[in-house]
Amino acid sequence: MKAIRRFTVRPVLPEALHPLSDLARNLRWSWHAETRDLFQSVDPERWAASENDPVRLLGNVSPGRLAELAEDRRFLRRLAAAADDLKDYVTGDRWYQSQSQSSELPAAIAYFSPEFGITAALPQYSGGLGILAGDHLKAASDLGVPLIGVGLLYRHGYFRQTLSRDGWQQEHYPVLDPNELPLSLLREQDGTPSQVSLALPGEKSLRARIWLAQVGRVPLLLLDSDVEENDPGERGVTDRLYGGGSEHRLLQEMLLGIGGVRAVRTYCRLTGHARPEVFHTNEGHAGFLGLERIHELSYEDLDFDAALEAVRAGTVFTTHTPVPAGIDRFDRELVARHFGPDAELPRIEVERILQLGMETYPGGEPNLFNMAVMGLRLGQRANGVSLLHGHVSREMFSGLWPGFDPDEVPITSVTNGVHAPTWVAPEVFRLGARQIGAQRTEDAMTVGASDRWDAVAEIPDQDIWELRRVLREQLVTEVRERLNASWRQRGAGTAELGWIDGVLDPDVLTIGFARRVPSYKRLTLMLRDRDRLLDLLLHPERPVQIVVAGKAHPADDGGKRLIQELVRFADDPRVRHRIVFLPDYGMAMAQKLYPGCDIWLNNPLRPLEACGTSGMKAALNGCLNLSVLDGWWDEWFQPDFGWAIPTADGTAATDEDRRDDLEASALYDLLEQRVAPRFYDRGPGGLPDRWIEMVRQTLTLLGPKVLAGRMVREYVERLYAPAARAHRSMDTSSARELATWKSRVRAAWPRVTVDHVETSAATTTAELGTTMSLRVRVGLGDLVPDDVEVQAVSGRVDSGDRITDGTAVPLKPAGGPDQEGRWLYEGPLSLDRTGPFGYTVRILPTHRLLASSAELGLVAVPSEELVEAPGVLMR
Ligand SMILES: *Cc1c(COP(=O)(O)O)cnc(C)c1O
Repeated sequence: MKAIRRFTVRPVLPEALHPLSDLARNLRWSWHAETRDLFQSVDPERWAASENDPVRLLGNVSPGRLAELAEDRRFLRRLAAAADDLKDYVTGDRWYQSQSQSSELPAAIAYFSPEFGITAALPQYSGGLGILAGDHLKAASDLGVPLIGVGLLYRHGYFRQTLSRDGWQQEHYPVLDPNELPLSLLREQDGTPSQVSLALPGEKSLRARIWLAQVGRVPLLLLDSDVEENDPGERGVTDRLYGGGSEHRLLQEMLLGIGGVRAVRTYCRLTGHARPEVFHTNEGHAGFLGLERIHELSYEDLDFDAALEAVRAGTVFTTHTPVPAGIDRFDRELVARHFGPDAELPRIEVERILQLGMETYPGGEPNLFNMAVMGLRLGQRANGVSLLHGHVSREMFSGLWPGFDPDEVPITSVTNGVHAPTWVAPEVFRLGARQIGAQRTEDAMTVGASDRWDAVAEIPDQDIWELRRVLREQLVTEVRERLNASWRQRGAGTAELGWIDGVLDPDVLTIGFARRVPSYKRLTLMLRDRDRLLDLLLHPERPVQIVVAGKAHPADDGGKRLIQELVRFADDPRVRHRIVFLPDYGMAMAQKLYPGCDIWLNNPLRPLEACGTSGMKAALNGCLNLSVLDGWWDEWFQPDFGWAIPTADGTAATDEDRRDDLEASALYDLLEQRVAPRFYDRGPGGLPDRWIEMVRQTLTLLGPKVLAGRMVREYVERLYAPAARAHRSMDTSSARELATWKSRVRAAWPRVTVDHVETSAATTTAELGTTMSLRVRVGLGDLVPDDVEVQAVSGRVDSGDRITDGTAVPLKPAGGPDQEGRWLYEGPLSLDRTGPFGYTVRILPTHRLLASSAELGLVAVPSEELVEAPGVLMR
């Protein structure tokens, strides 16, 4: 019989057990092993059956067992201790509160992301972007950073993956009932659920309620459009993560950005939480948040340009992808319709909105609205997610700052990190605790003091090797269980599956490869030369075994074909004990997989992996990385603790097939000649000494770097604090002043010119240490010297006379204007390096409220004729 209505009946806990409910609703349990142990002891069997989810556990425990626990003095003591510990954690001072200039730090930061991966029990993520957002919130909580997370609650989350008999990906969309998730509904004082509402074209509206997930100290607000007041179409807006067509995506992003700001306002009003001074958008999807804030300011009598300045000052934009297909672009018309006069943000002219998303650079599509471009225009501060990705992003977006070298494009980088308490296996944590104590191990993992990590040096080889064996063995067990479930699902009967007991060997070198399956990640590179792979897997003395997992986007048939290719290879009875594909890669699997592997393999097409984080999680468990020098590995790789797969980007990059051949062959060589021998070679004590040394170096050298705590501190120091200062300086009169000044400068700029440059010595050779004096005449049109900086830029030049590592020195105004309105500037030019050297002069706008002199994308340089003149550019 099918029920006509469905409820969730919540358990009634005996009074003495009430703290359990608070512990279950604060997601800190997801990174706090002690709290999880407590829940496990409530009912070990049901704990396992509820997939380690405390809310589900409490819904399933029998009243008899609860009554028993309510009388169990030992349990009650542990419960009280855990509740106390959580209270201390949530209310005590942490890193942020102990900063000397803490009053200068933002009172609150709103962090927007389309997905959050916090725990498998709250499946609201698809991959790296979401997990990163989850790790960001958790690390912020550990550090006491006053973040408010903002996202959407998807009724089906992302999809669950199984395989058909012949290895084709199948997608399933289980319904998630928010009442069964670790969430509570945000309510008004009178108890009615709070709502936000967006106007849609055609006199329709999109309403959403707000769920609250408590992530340690950090509240996470999740908007849910599945409310009865909505029409069926609007109810479905938050149905799936990254599903649906263009309009569906646009509505999701409008709800996230615009509705998200409204949800934050509601939350602050109801709870008294400080209002955010900084808004951080994790990728462009939430970019409409800037428009909503401009709209808010229109009620404070700021016109669009002034409001834009006010909003930019407090906005941080993080870009996550160098793959153009990874950027959201909408049809201009579609955007125009949703921001038209009968839709949202009626006080902003739609033309102004459209301009923000215009691809105004060569090759840009005039009919598309680009969310990343808008993100860059709405935020005064922007960053990529590794050094290399920062570099690639500056190149990629340099068209928005014409006249500037890519190096000067105002996009910095903060390299991603991972939340160690979430990703370090309990066994690894315990080894650390044995060595230096539990508290210091926790500190090492959250704040990242590198001297704490040095203690790894003292751990005996034997202990490290035993730990690695334990972790590998646990993985083997896990893999067999998952493989068994998968084969049953694929239609196999018990009698056919005896071979699974022999899958993987706890003493064989184990390689992991798990990630989403966009083509640039090259899931099947390892299959390039199947004979060589067979030799590696079946090597008589030094075999390797490989565990593979990953989901392809439901619309990506190419990705599904790659999965099928891999599955078919792994199904082959000759190798199926040495290579497996596990369906449904997610956080629960990942937490077992990373620790159990000896090698974490990553072979993306360089430089398309913006950062990558799975290798960091593996490293924290003593797994060694074998990877293309892309993302974070390009930055931190050292031969002491891992291997770099040589790449054929650059010249060979034009021929993709050839490139794959070269890189796959390099991968096989490394595995065969370096990795496997090192793993199997035993020293005098019977241990693989050199391997263990690499594990040790991985932990001591990478441990403190790869932490999300390190990442969040960098965000605070390099982006949030400056953004908060800029926000505070930008009161309404400053915002108006800056907007007026910018428009005046833009209008005047065509008449800003470098007219004449002369040096004291017009020689073509010069000696190191010589100082020459520069005299420059410039035209400023309607501007005055206060509006500009005239700079001498000098440095090494390449064969095309381009200055490669220039330093800029401001010149001083020395009189003027002359009769033609020209100003004289002077200054010294010191020849401070040998070899080919050159200089040039340029004029930039300058204002105390700018974050970078490239901000306006305006620069005046000498004309061609002037460059040709002798003495201007020396070689
Ligand atoms: C860490 C993680 C990712 C991201 O890994 P990348 O190295 O960035 O590809 C994806 N999915 C899960 C489940 C993860 O834990």
